[in-house]
Amino acid sequence: MLFYGNVVPVGRRDDALKEELEEAVVEAGRCLQCGLCSESCPSARSGGIAPDEVMAKVAEGDLDDERIWRCAMCHRCASVCPEDLDPSRVITALRNRSAAKGEHPKRFEDSAQRFLATGRAFPCTGMTRNMRKELGLPPLEVDRKAVAELKELIKGTRGWRKDD
Ligand code: SF4
Ligand code: SF4
Repeated sequence: MLFYGNVVPVGRRDDALKEELEEAVVEAGRCLQCGLCSESCPSARSGGIAPDEVMAKVAEGDLDDERIWRCAMCHRCASVCPEDLDPSRVITALRNRSAAKGEHPKRFEDSAQRFLATGRAFPCTGMTRNMRKELGLPPLEVDRKAVAELKELIKGTRGWRKDD
C-alpha cells in the first residue's frame, strides 16, 4: 500500500515514528499560544483545524484530534510563527501516527493509489474532460513510461512498503 510522503509514511519504522512524535511534543511545548498561526490558517477560517489548539493539545500529550485531516498543508502557520515553530510538521506527525494505525481517511489512500496508477492525485472526471475540451486542451492521457519511472522513484522513498 502506498501513501503520500508528507501525509502518511507507511513503511517507516516504529522507532522513526516514535522519534517524530517526541519531536512534535517538544515543538508544541515551545508554543506561546499567541494565536497568529490560527489567524492566518485558511482551514481555521472555515471551521477546520486551529493549529494553535492542536499545539496546545500536543504539548499536553493529547495526540488525538480528528481535525488533523482538515489541514491543507499550506504551511502558512509556519511562515507567521514568531517562535519559528511549524504546526504543520506537528500535524504531519499526528497524521503519521494515525495512519500507522490504519486510522486515516480513505480518500487519502484513494488519492495515493490513483497517483501510483496514473501519475495524478485527482480523478479525471467527465467534467474535467468537458472543461479541457472547452478550453481547447488535449485529453489527459496516462503516460505509462512516466508512471513506471514514478513507481521506481517512489520505491526509493519512505512512501513505499516493501511487503505490498
Ligand atoms: S498548514 Fe494546515 S494548519 Fe497550517 S495554516 Fe495551512 S491549513 Fe492551517
Ligand atoms: S504562531 Fe507559533 S507560537 Fe503562536 S500559537 Fe502558533 S505555533 Fe504557537
